[in-house]
Amino acid sequence: MSEAVRLTGRCNSRCLFCPRPPACAGGLDDEDPARVLRRLHELREGGARRVVLTGGEPTVTVVLSLAVAEAHTLGFEEIIVRTNGRRLADGAYTRRLVRGGLTHAVVSLHGYRPEVHDAITRTPGSFAEATDGVVALRRHGVDVTCALVLARPNLGELRAYVDLVKALGAGAVTLRTLRAWPAGAAHDASLGVTPAEAAPFVRPALAYGAARGLRMISLGLRRAALDSDLRYYH
Ligand code: SF4
Repeated sequence: MSEAVRLTGRCNSRCLFCPRPPACAGGLDDEDPARVLRRLHELREGGARRVVLTGGEPTVTVVLSLAVAEAHTLGFEEIIVRTNGRRLADGAYTRRLVRGGLTHAVVSLHGYRPEVHDAITRTPGSFAEATDGVVALRRHGVDVTCALVLARPNLGELRAYVDLVKALGAGAVTLRTLRAWPAGAAHDASLGVTPAEAAPFVRPALAYGAARGLRMISLGLRRAALDSDLRYYH
């Protein structure tokens, strides 16, 4: 059993598909640290063994270090951060989180080329930071899943993406199909793809990654679109 605990509404990126663009624009939107710690206690007392620390972008707030350390003290077996990975390019910061108890990370990576990823995040340099972040996490033994939101620019490059993830040392990939890009957030709505458009590209990519030893997960596609292959269904 795992639960998500939100640490902040802030973020240092501006993804086209972000469901919470106003909160991502900046400002003070961190959760009260005392409330976060209380929530961790409640979850552990309720029997949770895994916790997912989310945002916004959790690495922009000091609450993340506090939450990781408290989760470790409470005995969570898996302490997972869901992140855009940019701040983790700072090896000293990553090392501190791992020493505090971080065990897993889900890092958003939306393409195998900087120009594709950075266009989707609307943040120049974010590809280099995210990939450096994955490398830093792996150096410290953290289990990493790379998470891609399917979009027109990355759809035809999923095999190269899988090869990149493998080369970075991550162990799993999630390919997420959005049913609809948030109204008003997709400044270039033509970048979005429907599940029907995505399915023919996702199926071979899942098989390609699995054959290379990666744990492959599809999010957002119906079972029928995956030929009912439940290995990939989530
Ligand atoms: S990294 Fe996450 S929170 Fe930040 S802009 Fe992108 S989708 Fe939104």
